[in-house]
Amino acid sequence: MTGFPEVATLSEHVSRVLGLNPGLMTGPGTNTYLVGRDAPVLIDTGAGVAGYLPNLLRHLERARLDEPSRILLTHRHVDHMGGVTQLRRVFPETPVAKLIFRDGTLPVPMESLHDGHVTEVDGLHLLAIHTPGHASDHLSFYLREERALFTGDLILEGTTTVIPPDDGDMAAYLESLRRLLDLDLTRIYPAHGRVIESPKEKIEEYIAHRFQREEMILEALRAGGRTIPEIVATVYVSTPSVLHPVAQLSVESHLIKLEQEGRVRRTAEGQFIPA
Ligand SMILES: [Zn+2]
Repeated sequence: MTGFPEVATLSEHVSRVLGLNPGLMTGPGTNTYLVGRDAPVLIDTGAGVAGYLPNLLRHLERARLDEPSRILLTHRHVDHMGGVTQLRRVFPETPVAKLIFRDGTLPVPMESLHDGHVTEVDGLHLLAIHTPGHASDHLSFYLREERALFTGDLILEGTTTVIPPDDGDMAAYLESLRRLLDLDLTRIYPAHGRVIESPKEKIEEYIAHRFQREEMILEALRAGGRTIPEIVATVYVSTPSVLHPVAQLSVESHLIKLEQEGRVRRTAEGQFIPA
């Protein structure tokens, strides 16, 4: 993706350093955010791409920021947590924190955050909000002084969030989105893509999109689609086929939700039928 800067100052308190891991699922790459000036917090670490670290260090120097006093992770996916090891080599004392939940071995020792935890930095306050759905350990961070939300992979700009059926949960995802509507928000800093300046509209758009997909899946089932690939072929006609394997994951998550709600049944052969 062209035109997406590797480093950008976004507000008085927030700047962004790109993880340099562009791709089908990551858009221009994973965004990492610095919040605060003296002893700033770093939110997410990218995938561990070598070119990221020099960009980060140069930015700290040019913007006259202190080294990060704390690293917060939105969730365990490798494009968010993968840079932890290289950062710890440069900042060996910097504590790393995430919501530790269903985690296997972590690359470095970490502190566990919980819903409602407030990180204070440089007179700023970052409130951790548990927002599962894309991943069970997913946190968003609300920057009170800016009324801004770091949404991780809950809400993205330019690409769509995948809800993997193993660790994700479609019902939880929708509930997480609804929870965000209660926040007083002026902007969203997503983990992929540009700043979102109309947060409420975006959240509502995301919720509407999922319900629309759900309706289309039910429609495909009524039309005789029985397997996940069959449903994807009908529902995702306008999506490039290279994305269909990923779409299958989200469709499966939708089907699990519909099954739990008693609206879809799984046959003994593993096919799906309207209940
Ligand atoms: Zn993710």
